[in-house]
Amino acid sequence: MIALDRYNGQRVGVFGMGRSGLTCARALRAGGATPVCWDDSEAGRERARAEGFEVADLTVADSYGAGEERMRVVALSPGAPHLYPQPHPVAQTAWELDCLVDNDVGLFFSQISAARRESAPSDVPKVVAITGSNGKSTTSALIHHMLKAAGRPAQLGGNIGRGVLDLDPPGPGEIYVLELSSYQTDLARRMTPDVAVLLNLHPDHLDRHGGLGGYFAAKARLFQRGPDHRSGAYLPGPPPHQIIGVDEAEGRYLANHQRSGDADEPVVEISAGRDLSDKTRAVFGQGGVLRVIEAGAEQTPMPIDGAPWLKGAHNVQNAAAAVAACRALGLSHEETLSGLASFPGLPHRLQRVAEQDGVTYVNDSKATNADAAEKALLAYENVRWIVGGRQKEGGIEPLRPLFGRIRKAYLVGEASEQFAATLRVYPEEVPYEKCGTIDAAVAQAHADAEAGDTVLLAPACASFDQFPDFEKRGEAFIASVETALASQK
Ligand code: ADP
Repeated sequence: MIALDRYNGQRVGVFGMGRSGLTCARALRAGGATPVCWDDSEAGRERARAEGFEVADLTVADSYGAGEERMRVVALSPGAPHLYPQPHPVAQTAWELDCLVDNDVGLFFSQISAARRESAPSDVPKVVAITGSNGKSTTSALIHHMLKAAGRPAQLGGNIGRGVLDLDPPGPGEIYVLELSSYQTDLARRMTPDVAVLLNLHPDHLDRHGGLGGYFAAKARLFQRGPDHRSGAYLPGPPPHQIIGVDEAEGRYLANHQRSGDADEPVVEISAGRDLSDKTRAVFGQGGVLRVIEAGAEQTPMPIDGAPWLKGAHNVQNAAAAVAACRALGLSHEETLSGLASFPGLPHRLQRVAEQDGVTYVNDSKATNADAAEKALLAYENVRWIVGGRQKEGGIEPLRPLFGRIRKAYLVGEASEQFAATLRVYPEEVPYEKCGTIDAAVAQAHADAEAGDTVLLAPACASFDQFPDFEKRGEAFIASVETALASQK
């Protein structure tokens, strides 16, 4: 755990007693502060009491104290909307009282800045922060893997695995690899990464950001400010390495906006397939290799068609970002290449779970929106598509151009009725069947499948109608595949 000693002796509010909130409270207590905890649910408040934390209603001004004792900071959990669709009452109360609203990510960066100032020059901890609509976990895990494979001390956390404050304090030369969601980057008061990464931008979570512009702005905040000067003086300036996916207009705008045009250009443009060979710093995919441009000069290309996890153009984008990040952190060509080749991939992302009688079974439970499902459909043909769950805005309408790849759709969950309606209006109707559950869908797809088909779970939906999270949904798919394969056709 990273003890937050900056608030030693102070009372600090913590709202939301989920995993990150509880960790935040512990980190504050470990640093000598008194966390004052609150949660909308009694169960959450009970979790705080069970650990001996003070519990007080943070929607009420009295809980913030007065005079010297007055609370100056409250950390909000990512589950609590601070602005849209409407501000949470805790945020509103804190604003009224001029209490600063922050989150665990903002508190983490403050603490790391202090550690940076106190470290010997060779030991200064670094932070790589990754955001984007899709591919964050894959890219973060890949960067972490490549750093570890090259013998660098590195820790992975944030929106993946351990929460930021649950990570260990920095050892000499530690590199933190943080996956950050738009909820986190929107609220953190301070983010000072050495390497900032934006992979891509597609509509998601729009209700929480007041639309696409707000969503993009939340992610672009990551690029505002780099590490402070080591003397402690504020050195204005963006992160020294800014890796920006330029496959969408927003990325091209941001890259253009952030460019310095100097010899020490901070912007590295990345793309799955755009030719960026005229750029100063770029990594992009072309013909089974990653082409790498540094200081305007082309480097030795990196072959990427061998790695089994690298299926689909979207993973080329992820690999390009990871290569750019690792090069920025000083890994050699050989170290970068061998880290790429030895990455095992992540579960629930185009995870090949079985192959039998020429039929491949693929678990892409993490495809929780249409854009991610599009990537999965693009990676295969003759698809027996298991799709559905709790619908996102727009449903599967954007996937219509790919309907020709679908041999049959197996509909599950709440979205079945609406998805059936979308599938019916294809010029020639896509065959579909309402199966209700993943289990029934797998059994039916298995019964129907012929050699050359891929049975693909790519739900294009959230899992919450039937499962607590996408992991449980993916595990249910794998279990159903095992059962189906064990049975006779
Ligand atoms: P995130 O952490 O951003 O949700 P993941 O790495 O967990 O991203 O992947 C989420 C889903 O998006 C998976 O279904 C995966 O196949 C798909 N995906 C992965 N990388 C990309 C990308 N660069 N662009 C679009 N879709 C992607």
